[in-house]
Amino acid sequence: MSFVDEKLLDLLSCPRCKGELIYEREKARLVCSKGRLFYPINDGIPVLLVDRAVSLTVDEP
Ligand SMILES: [Zn+2]
Repeated sequence: MSFVDEKLLDLLSCPRCKGELIYEREKARLVCSKGRLFYPINDGIPVLLVDRAVSLTVDEP
């Protein structure tokens, strides 16, 4: 399991709404609280693509 550099995270924002992203290490994802969606992290690389965003309602109804 690899971890994202938390200094890098300060530089990242949601590609869809430019909102702040919250890193959930245990779930390996970046959550956009504004958009109610998250972006997966693959091998320590955040996948910040609008078409890869997943709705939070999928696993948190
Ligand atoms: Zn967003």
